Amino acid sequence: MVSDQLERLDRLPLRTNLRGLSPYGAPQLDVPILLNVNENTHGVPADVQAAITEAVAAAATGLNRYPDREFTELRESLAEYLGHGLTPDNIWAANGSNEVLQQILQAFGGPGRKALGFPPTYSMYPLLASGTDTEYVRGVRADDYGLDAESAADQVRETGANIVFLCSPNNPTGTGLGLDVVEAVYEAGEASQAIVIVDEAYHEFAHDNTPSALTLLPGRERLIVSRTMSKAFALAGARLGYMAAAPEVADAIRLVRLPYHLSAVTQATALAALNHREALMADVEDIKIQRDRIVTELLRLGLKPAASDSNYVFFGGLENPHAIWQGLLDAGVLIRDVGIPGHLRVTAGTEPETTAFLVALEALLDGQGSKPA
Ligand SMILES: *Cc1c(COP(=O)(O)O)cnc(C)c1O
Repeated sequence: MVSDQLERLDRLPLRTNLRGLSPYGAPQLDVPILLNVNENTHGVPADVQAAITEAVAAAATGLNRYPDREFTELRESLAEYLGHGLTPDNIWAANGSNEVLQQILQAFGGPGRKALGFPPTYSMYPLLASGTDTEYVRGVRADDYGLDAESAADQVRETGANIVFLCSPNNPTGTGLGLDVVEAVYEAGEASQAIVIVDEAYHEFAHDNTPSALTLLPGRERLIVSRTMSKAFALAGARLGYMAAAPEVADAIRLVRLPYHLSAVTQATALAALNHREALMADVEDIKIQRDRIVTELLRLGLKPAASDSNYVFFGGLENPHAIWQGLLDAGVLIRDVGIPGHLRVTAGTEPETTAFLVALEALLDGQGSKPA
């Protein structure tokens, strides 16, 4: 935020723990090629668009009434999509997984409670913590940004965290966590009865046979697996996130959710997409090809891409990442500067978008007259 805005905010009787904070603010710029916020770049397939349009038209006839507060049909469909023996009682959904995470913090966090995250990780975790007056504790990762079971479990025990965020694959680094980490963190959280959230926003983009933390749910009533339709389902604009957990966790969240929080339009949209997911999943496969292509090409350019199980690639080896970010923007390609020295993050585009990014990047690196550090 600009400083006079901050000054004016400061004159308000704002809650102490919100003073001096900036809102989430990935730039929304009018640029031809948007590879900055890990959206699905492949658009909504025509048959899915048609199904959504039809479903929303039907929903419009009943908009004088409040929607199904329990979004029963949607929970059924999400349970069926996830598999793993889950039933609608295990499912909860909200307007984006950000809202699901917020509701979890409202129910299990709050004053006097601590949430533990492992930066660099999703930038919303600390913001959601401050919004619910939950203390956010920054854990540490290895120098290569990895997180092993022993270190993670030690940190859970040392901090006595009430809530633990495990992002897998991690945003911004793109790398998945072994399930041994989730198991160790869950066990270590026994003493503080920690709620363990595994944020699998990008799970559909993982390499084949990557196990999901959904397999760990049986018998672990403090474990929550969070998912979203914003990425693989190409529905960032519709706002539908969800989680799988023990039925009593969903019941706890019913205590804090606003009544009718999922509009009839949202429910209809999400259901239509779930019912027509074949074309969406075909696009996911193409995005994975572009993602792997980016990794290969960045290696060829002498850069250091991290292993990615997501629809984006985090890469290092840049002498001046901000100059590269700006140069790409000037060439019409917006990517993300996540504020980590020497690194940038790029979302896998369509084939032509990915080509445009790679061509522009190579020209910039050549233009610097020096190969990367
Ligand atoms: C994009 C993203 C989400 C999804 O947020 P929505 O509110 O569902 O759009 C959740 N977690 C991570 C780590 C993400 O990158």
